[in-house]
Amino acid sequence: MTDFKRTQSLFSLPAGVIYLDGNSLGPLPATVTARVQRMMTEEWGELLIRGWNSAGWMVQPRRIGDRIGRLIGAPDGTVVVGDTLSIKVYQALASALALNPSRRVVLSDSGNFPSDLYMAEGLLKTLDRGHELKVVAPEEVEAAIDDTIAVTMLTEVDYRTGRLHDMAALTRKAHDAGALAIWDLAHSAGAIPVDVSGAKADFAVGCTYKYLNAGPGAPAFIYVAPKHAETARPALSGWMGHQSPFAFDLDYRPGEGIERMRVGTPPVIAMAALDAALDVWDGVSMDDVRKASITLGDLFIREVEARCPELTLASPRDGSQRGSQVSFRHDEGYAIMQALIARGVIGDFRAPDALRFGFTPLYIGEAEVRAAVDVLADILANRRWDTAEYRKRALVT
Ligand SMILES: *Cc1c(COP(=O)(O)O)cnc(C)c1O
Repeated sequence: MTDFKRTQSLFSLPAGVIYLDGNSLGPLPATVTARVQRMMTEEWGELLIRGWNSAGWMVQPRRIGDRIGRLIGAPDGTVVVGDTLSIKVYQALASALALNPSRRVVLSDSGNFPSDLYMAEGLLKTLDRGHELKVVAPEEVEAAIDDTIAVTMLTEVDYRTGRLHDMAALTRKAHDAGALAIWDLAHSAGAIPVDVSGAKADFAVGCTYKYLNAGPGAPAFIYVAPKHAETARPALSGWMGHQSPFAFDLDYRPGEGIERMRVGTPPVIAMAALDAALDVWDGVSMDDVRKASITLGDLFIREVEARCPELTLASPRDGSQRGSQVSFRHDEGYAIMQALIARGVIGDFRAPDALRFGFTPLYIGEAEVRAAVDVLADILANRRWDTAEYRKRALVT
């Protein structure tokens, strides 16, 4: 059994804050500060350029990739860390399209995070070979998989509603139709059990600053199925993905296996934060996390529906059909969220009208859920959100 009291003690959260936004930016694991400090003083400060070899900076993207692999059912040597998720989406899609050259359609859905769609649009335009990005409603994805599809590019958990796609079933359908399957695990890794091997995903990508708590701007990860490891073309052919970066050849030759998905110099300070943040998962069972997060989400839905009748549930009611977050709709959702944040209950808002709350049993329990609903009910019953100040949109919502 996972000891959630212990995991709770590993996070450094400000007093008086109920943090329900780990789906957007995970909180700071206490040991990260010292680890980054040590990296700066003992590694960068003392070792200088020698750190690439003696402190293992060069091999870190793969070593940490293996640690993430254990959380998503990927074997060692199939995951590498670096760049941002948008970049990794681009690489995965470019590689997948090159592996299926006779097809021209990329299938995604309207619940996907826009950056994934934007990256696809940009890539298809650059390729200029008549590719089409087909975007259907999430419920229509399964029926839209036919023998015109080159690649399905889906995000397992919908960022706005938490709705969960059936990764294994959709991947099977894609393969039966002769397509490749890319899965974005941005809201899955560290939130729900994931098995990229069992589901037979061709490529998977994700970020580490959400449920993996590695800090703002932390690097992303990419998984390539072993069967594509030596044939996938990385698209962004930077020197760190070269077979021999320090041979300084004038021609690009892709590195062995997952190495080729590296692009440029890794962000070593951010890698140190990520490495330390992953320690939180030692001794944690994803099945226990899943069970506890469904219990918390169910409790939240029950309490909100009983006490806040103005809000409409935007997430699947059935816990097995949603990720680790619950969203409610309200026309004044933005102002309501600002009022909540002012009272220390931190969730976020996603246009046009969704109040989004993430439930992470690593540091949130039933007491926090009940206390958050107390504040929400008060804000709604007394229209405390109804001020010009709370309606003023900030740069980041
Ligand atoms: C959070 C998120 C992103 C963000 O991409 P970055 O390049 O890290 O800014 C992309 N796609 C999905 C599905 C996300 O949830």
